[in-house]
Amino acid sequence: MTRPPLNRRLAEFGTTIFAEMSALAARTGSINLGQGFPDTDGPEEIREAAVRALREGRGNQYPPGPGVPELRTAVGDHQRERYGLVYDPDTEVLVTAGATEAIAAALLALVEPGDEVVALEPYYDSYAACVAMAGGTRVPVTLRPHEGTYVLDLDELRAAVTDRTRLILLNTPHNPTGTVLTRAELTAIAELAVERDLLVVTDEVYEHLVFDGAEHVPIASLPGMRERTVTIGSAGKTFSFTGWKVGWITASPELTAAVRSAKQFLTYVSSGPFQYAVAEALRLPAAYFDGLRADLSAKRDLLCEGLAQAGFEVYRPAGTYFVTTDIRPLGATDGFAFCRSLPERAGVVAIPNAVFYDHRDQGAPFVRFAFCKRTEVLEEAVTRLKRLA
Ligand code: PMP
Ligand code: GLN
Repeated sequence: MTRPPLNRRLAEFGTTIFAEMSALAARTGSINLGQGFPDTDGPEEIREAAVRALREGRGNQYPPGPGVPELRTAVGDHQRERYGLVYDPDTEVLVTAGATEAIAAALLALVEPGDEVVALEPYYDSYAACVAMAGGTRVPVTLRPHEGTYVLDLDELRAAVTDRTRLILLNTPHNPTGTVLTRAELTAIAELAVERDLLVVTDEVYEHLVFDGAEHVPIASLPGMRERTVTIGSAGKTFSFTGWKVGWITASPELTAAVRSAKQFLTYVSSGPFQYAVAEALRLPAAYFDGLRADLSAKRDLLCEGLAQAGFEVYRPAGTYFVTTDIRPLGATDGFAFCRSLPERAGVVAIPNAVFYDHRDQGAPFVRFAFCKRTEVLEEAVTRLKRLA
C-alpha cells in the first residue's frame, strides 16, 4: 500500500530549484549564474551600520512586531519621495523576513481555501507554494515571448478573473523574464481590479533595477488602488545584502493588520540589527541607486551579448538582474536537461524556466542566467559558454 505523502499540499514542490542549482554549482565548481544573489556585498557604510547596531545593542533582542520605527519611517519616506505614495509608518508599514515572508504572510492572510489567485506565469517559485499553503487555487496568466521581450495579454488576464478570484499577484520588474509592466498595462490591471473588486499583492523587489530609462510604476499609485494593494519591497536586491532578509509591505491599515496577523505567527520578528542598517540604506543619495543601475545595465549588456554570440536567443531584460534565453538555436529543447548538463559541458550553472510554469511545456526551452556578478566572472562565463556553439 502506498501512503499519501506527509506534506500533501506541498509535495508537488520538492526542493527549490535555487537550492538544487546552487548545490550543483558548488559540487562541480561551476560559475553560478543560477540563484540570484550578488557575488559582492553592498555598500561598506551600510555593512558598518549593521556592525554598529550589533555593538550598540540595537536589535539584538526581539525588535517590535511591526519592525523598528527607524526602518518603518524610512520605508514610508522612500515610498513618498519616489512615488508620491504616503503611508503612515505606524499603521501602514510592516517589516518582514525578506520579501519571501511578506509574500507568504499576505497570501496566508488574504486567501481563503477555494479562492483563486491570478498570477503572471512564469512566476517566482514561492508564489505557487504559498497559494497552496493558503489552500487557494493558482490561475496562471502566461507572459508570452514576442519580438525579443515577454508580453502580457490583457484579454487573457481579464478572462482569467472569475467570481472566485480573490486577488491578483503581480511582479514588476518581473523575475525571470525581465519585463517591466508599463503604466498603460498597469492602468488596465488596476481598472480590472476596481471593476471586479479584487485585491492586488504586488512584488516590487526589483523596483530599483530598471534599465534604459524604463519607469517602475507601483500599481498602488494608480487610481482606486491604494486601498486594495499590498506592495512588497526588499533590501536584498536593492542593497546587495540578500542574506540579511529584510523586507516590508506597505498597505492600508486594514490590509497591513491582516498581513501582520499571519506574519506574527511565522517569524514573529527577524533581522533586528539589520533593520537599522537598512533604514540608513534607504536614505542613501540618488548617486547610489544610479550607480547600481549603471553597473547592472553594463553587466546585462555584457552577458546578453556573450549569450547571443554563444548561440542563445536572448530576451533582453528591461529590469531585474536576470536574462531569459531560448536554447533551441543550440539544438536543445529541454531546459531541465540543458541546465543539468551545463556544468559538465561548460562549467556554468543556470535555471530552467520551466520550474516557473504550470504549463511546463511553455517554459521548456527557456533558461535563465543571472548577471549580478563581477565583470570578470561574467566574462569567464561567456568564454566558457561560447564553447557550446
Ligand atoms: N520576489 C522575487 C520576484 C524574487 O526574485 C525574490 C528572490 N530574490 C524574492 C521575492 C525574495 O526576496 P527576499 O530575499 O527578500 O526574501
Ligand atoms: N530570488 C532569487 C532568484 O530568483 C533566489 C532566492 C531564493 O533562493 N529563494 O534567483
